[in-house]
Amino acid sequence: MGTAQTVPFIKRSHASTLKPAGDLTLPEGRQPAEPVPGGGRLSLRADCERCFALCCVGPAFSASADFAISKPAGQPCPNLQPDFRCSVHDRLRPRGFGGCTVYDCFGAGQQVAQVTFGGRDWRQAPEIAAQMFDVFAIVRQLHELFWYLSEALAMRPARPLHGELSAALQETERLAGGSPDALAALDVNAHRRNVNALLLRASELARAGARRQEAGPGRADLTGADHSAADHRGADLTGKDPSGANLAGASMRGAYLIGADLSGADLSGADLTGSIFLTQSQVDAAKGDPGTKLPPSLISPAHWLPSAMPGQSG
Ligand code: SF4
Repeated sequence: MGTAQTVPFIKRSHASTLKPAGDLTLPEGRQPAEPVPGGGRLSLRADCERCFALCCVGPAFSASADFAISKPAGQPCPNLQPDFRCSVHDRLRPRGFGGCTVYDCFGAGQQVAQVTFGGRDWRQAPEIAAQMFDVFAIVRQLHELFWYLSEALAMRPARPLHGELSAALQETERLAGGSPDALAALDVNAHRRNVNALLLRASELARAGARRQEAGPGRADLTGADHSAADHRGADLTGKDPSGANLAGASMRGAYLIGADLSGADLSGADLTGSIFLTQSQVDAAKGDPGTKLPPSLISPAHWLPSAMPGQSG
């Protein structure tokens, strides 16, 4: 991310995104209860063909179950080719780069490459490289917030907040369109805090009609826990760290999942219909099967298919 920071997520292989590239204002399949004022210009779907592999260079990686290697921030991954394509994109998981299959930049890559920096790339213009990677990390956060705000605007129970949500969405879009210097100077954490508070209020309204369940009596978190067939309808799982948990067959309708780490969690047969602020990256990092029910904006990863072999790239 342009700083000595290790990403807690990774990327899809280049030119192998699960969804086709294209402009998208709202999460696919979601329709706003009312038009989104000022919306419609940000593309939230990654288009690696119009990016310069910013996610393969900017962030630092630490060798782990998700990354076969460590690399410092700002240094290209050794698998990155001169044409910005990944040399192992069709075998990322077997090569130990499974994390690369679940990363989503929310379209920040092409925004920074083509709009913010006007098509200049860090190979031909190394003097802009450091700022480009820093700005990418910031714009990614703004695009992610835009995604959440768009989803919140699609929640009818959150209608009382639509004015505030629309204003926040427009401000987020305005910030994302800033110059490199303006973006580099932006206090994105402050903006994120304000938006998060608004999103939490929206989720409270959306979950009001769902029966709330404690996500585990007496437990601080769900890490690795067996909660198969549990009732998590309308639950707030954001602070429960469900990574590695057995949630097979669980009912998670209307659960609040913003930022929840679902890596390695077993969602086989689970019902996540209507779950709030769930992203494709979270789904991609989890286990599941064709019986897993997802919100219409999300798709089942390839590695959930019965034909997928263990270790196969997602
Ligand atoms: S293995 Fe390297 S080049 Fe390939 S997608 Fe991952 S970070 Fe990018």
